[in-house]
Amino acid sequence: MIPGATDRPLIFLDVDGPLIPLSSRPPGHRTFRDEELSGYGNPLLHRLDPDDGQRLLALNCELVWATTWMADANEVISPLLGLPELAVVEWPDTDEDPPHGLHWKTEPITEWAAGRPFIWLDDELTEADRQWVASHHGCRALLHRVDPHTGLTKADYSLIRRWLAE
Ligand SMILES: [Mg+2]
Repeated sequence: MIPGATDRPLIFLDVDGPLIPLSSRPPGHRTFRDEELSGYGNPLLHRLDPDDGQRLLALNCELVWATTWMADANEVISPLLGLPELAVVEWPDTDEDPPHGLHWKTEPITEWAAGRPFIWLDDELTEADRQWVASHHGCRALLHRVDPHTGLTKADYSLIRRWLAE
């Protein structure tokens, strides 16, 4: 293990919304060329921002996949974005909705963090999740909702960097 590695905040990453927005990228935005995505057979990958990997790595946190893509995130998204293989949060196998309007990811993510500071980037989290984490996680946490129509923007990265610098 790298010395000090466990001191770094975690960043839990959702894929659909933050990295693959609901809408196509605006004209002029850099995206992958067709030939770079040939063989993947998923047209939504055209919505990835090829530079998000470098931007995320530059935050110098420990990145963790927190997505329904599960292991596919390491198979497909990590190589395209130039990310290493990341740890993946496993989800409980249940159809029951968690109480108090919580997102179904909130408890597993908080448990995974195990008291370490963390950032969670997702398009579906709400104030209920923030409140629950504030009262159940004994450490700093930034639950940042990303607009699923834009994906991660410069403003999102600025906010994250400010939080990390605090
Ligand atoms: Mg999402």
